[in-house]
Amino acid sequence: MATAASTRYRAPLNGCPKQPDVAAFVLGALTPAEERATMAHVAGCGICQATLQEFATLPDLLALVPRSVIELIDRSRTTPPVPR
Ligand SMILES: [Zn+2]
Repeated sequence: MATAASTRYRAPLNGCPKQPDVAAFVLGALTPAEERATMAHVAGCGICQATLQEFATLPDLLALVPRSVIELIDRSRTTPPVPR
């Protein structure tokens, strides 16, 4: 039985291989040609429409991340793990 909650985004790739493209679209990471192809796909795909709605607030949320946290993430990427 389908409920409203079952259509919400819960995990990466919950049914459509184009979902990563939708996420990249929201973040402005696609080329113009990729944007057009992604939007054409989203128009006919309920899964990706739901994903687009879920991700629509992501740029605003990312803008709220403090600079100190971003620098911490950058450091964790470039610093090799310390053996314990
Ligand atoms: Zn799709």
